[in-house]
Amino acid sequence: MIPNRRDFLKIAGASALTLITPSILNPLWAKETVRVPGQDFTPAKALTANRWAMMVEPAKCPEGCTVCTAACHAVHNVPNFGNSKDEVKWIWTEPFAAVFPGENHRYQWQALQKMRLPVLCNHCENPPCVRVCPTKATFRRPDGIVMMDYHRCIGCRLCMAGCPYGARSMNYRDPRPFIARSNPDFPTRTKGVVEKCNFCEERLAKGIMPACVLACKEKALTFGDAENSRSEVRLAIEKRFSLPRRAGLGTAPQVYYIL
Ligand code: SF4
Ligand code: SF4
Repeated sequence: MIPNRRDFLKIAGASALTLITPSILNPLWAKETVRVPGQDFTPAKALTANRWAMMVEPAKCPEGCTVCTAACHAVHNVPNFGNSKDEVKWIWTEPFAAVFPGENHRYQWQALQKMRLPVLCNHCENPPCVRVCPTKATFRRPDGIVMMDYHRCIGCRLCMAGCPYGARSMNYRDPRPFIARSNPDFPTRTKGVVEKCNFCEERLAKGIMPACVLACKEKALTFGDAENSRSEVRLAIEKRFSLPRRAGLGTAPQVYYIL
C-alpha cells in the first residue's frame, strides 16, 4: 500500500523524534566544561551581588608586577599590537600622580610618588560613557557592571570622550591577528569596536571570581558586593581610608583604593 500524505508525516515525525530524543535525555550532552588558559573550572552557581565593587591595595603590588594584566588580557582575548598608539588595555598600571591628580605634592612620601597603581574601568554608578552612547552599546546592569555590547558599537568613540578615566580602548585595526593565544570561551572583537574591563561578568555567571583577582597572589585586589555589610570589600572600604578616583566628578566609581 502506498502511504498517503498524513501517514507520511506521521512516519517522518516519529523518525525525527527517535534521532533527537537520546541527545535530550543524555545528561553527558548537557555537561559543559569552562576552559580558561592554564586553568580548568567546573561550572558552579553564578556569583551575584547588589553592587559589585573592587578594592585595590597598591602597597601590596610588587614593583613592575603585571600578573593581573596578563591574566585579564589572556582570558579576554585582548590583542597586543606591540605599540602604544594602537594599544588596547583592560587593566594596567599608572603612576600615583596620574591616577590621583590633585592628591599629590612635591614633599609627598617618596614611595607613594614612585608607586604604580592598577587601573581599570571603575564601573561608575553614574557613568558618563553610558549617557553619551548613541546606540546603547554600553549600559549599566542593576548589579553595577557597565557592559559593552560589541555588536551595537558603531565606533563613534563618544564613550571614550565621555570617560574621564581613559578606561576604554578602540580597535583601530583588526585585533584578531594580534591575539597570542585565543580563549574560545570569550568573543574576539573586530576593527572599529570599543572595549574595556567587564568585571569578568562572564566568569561571575559561571561562579568564578575575576581573573585579575585570582591571579594576584599578593591579594592586592579584592572583589565583592559593596551592598553586603559583611563582605570583605564593604568592611575594608568602611573601616579603612579609601579613595575612589576623581570623586568630585560625581561619577561614583566602584573601584576603591586603599593607600
Ligand atoms: S570608568 Fe569610564 S568607562 Fe568605566 S564606567 Fe566609568 S565612565 Fe564608563
Ligand atoms: S575584573 Fe576581569 S575584566 Fe576587569 S580588570 Fe579584572 S580581570 Fe580584567
